[in-house]
Amino acid sequence: MLRTLLTRRLYMPLASFLQGESMFACLAELERTQSWSSEELRARQFADLRDTLRAAGRVPYYRDRGYPADVGTWEDFLALPVLEKSEVRDHFQSLRNPGGGESLGHTSGSTGEPVRFTHGPAFRSRHEAGQWRSRGWFGVRPGEGVLAVWGRPVGPAREWNLLRLKSFLNHLLHVSAFDLSPAFIRALYPQIRRLRPRLVYGYPSGLEVLVRQAESDGVRLDDLGVRLVACTAEVLYGFQRDLLGTAFGAPVADVYGCGEFGAFAHQCPHGRMHVACENVVVEFLDESDRPVPAGTPGQVVVTSLHNPGMPLIRYRVGDMAVPVEGVCPCGRNLPLMDVRTGKTGQMVRTAGGRMFSTELFDYVNKSLLTAGHRQIRAFHVVQTALEDFTVRYVTEAEEPGPALAACEKGLREVLGAQVRIVFEEVEEIPRHPGGKLGYFTCQMPPQA
Ligand SMILES: [Zn+2]
Repeated sequence: MLRTLLTRRLYMPLASFLQGESMFACLAELERTQSWSSEELRARQFADLRDTLRAAGRVPYYRDRGYPADVGTWEDFLALPVLEKSEVRDHFQSLRNPGGGESLGHTSGSTGEPVRFTHGPAFRSRHEAGQWRSRGWFGVRPGEGVLAVWGRPVGPAREWNLLRLKSFLNHLLHVSAFDLSPAFIRALYPQIRRLRPRLVYGYPSGLEVLVRQAESDGVRLDDLGVRLVACTAEVLYGFQRDLLGTAFGAPVADVYGCGEFGAFAHQCPHGRMHVACENVVVEFLDESDRPVPAGTPGQVVVTSLHNPGMPLIRYRVGDMAVPVEGVCPCGRNLPLMDVRTGKTGQMVRTAGGRMFSTELFDYVNKSLLTAGHRQIRAFHVVQTALEDFTVRYVTEAEEPGPALAACEKGLREVLGAQVRIVFEEVEEIPRHPGGKLGYFTCQMPPQA
């Protein structure tokens, strides 16, 4: 209780203050707007969209391509070109707003293709508020204990230590999804019990490993007082939903987002996924970039409404999802979508039963970007045996050696020094049907 209060009353407001935009004020606003009518929400979204386009009018990349500094109707907006990941990758600097305030630099290597972008204070506060609003639907409030099974930075220990400190101040136990050995999980049980988390959050694949281990150790998790298990970053399979719900004795909700926009769609207690339409405009487009009808899978294209320092306008995320019509029984008019065709979660298994979320590869990619190793354009890891990995990579550099060495070091840090890693240069990395570059393919025989 004291920890909850310290985090809610002291640390979170202080962090908001330092960030320059109050997360709690944004949360109060989002809790008001969620009861608005669809028309009110749509009008508000359009007003914010116009502000975004005004900010984009100062961005060299958009200016040079003749984007209008304002739009009069939704149709005008929908006539703007779709922004590709490759454009953001190749024109990072010219996509930044020279007068856009102090957006902090932020990098991500989401989906195998490294992309850099920045998030400003307004974006961060609103995104965080969007997360807490949806958790509030399940009775979880800011500052309450959170158990997160998530990736951790690879590379210099400093970053991981800093993140752990921040997690501690946020009343959050950050469990690395890259270290889920039976011994590691057993050492967590007393910490989890002390934390008594109200929210369990993370990759479904990682949570599944944790829950199965607890089950085989005869450790109960359903008496901790968990109110919500929120899964994100990967497809949440039905069997995982059942497994996690039973293990924690709590409802399981799916959360959808990506590095560029954070989490922006959340399932409510009725199992419908609502878009935080006060923060983003989400479109679902067919092959010719025309909107698909409700109930039909389309490519997810997103515009961020509160990131004037680097506005991404009609950005193709690389996932498929389905726009859903109708009104949710929960009464909120936030638009509905379904992501059953989204990302596939997978675990990497190595000798001794060690398991890692494939998000590991994303973290390795991020560490390469952070260290300035931009020579690898994309990579894909193929596992052929428990300890054998082939890294297929695309490069345009004459000397990718240092980047490859850094990549190998990052992989070994998590997979272990004993694994065999072979690098193989390729022309291109085949995409998944949804258009995404996957990071990982397992080619091991099932019984290996
Ligand atoms: Zn609902």
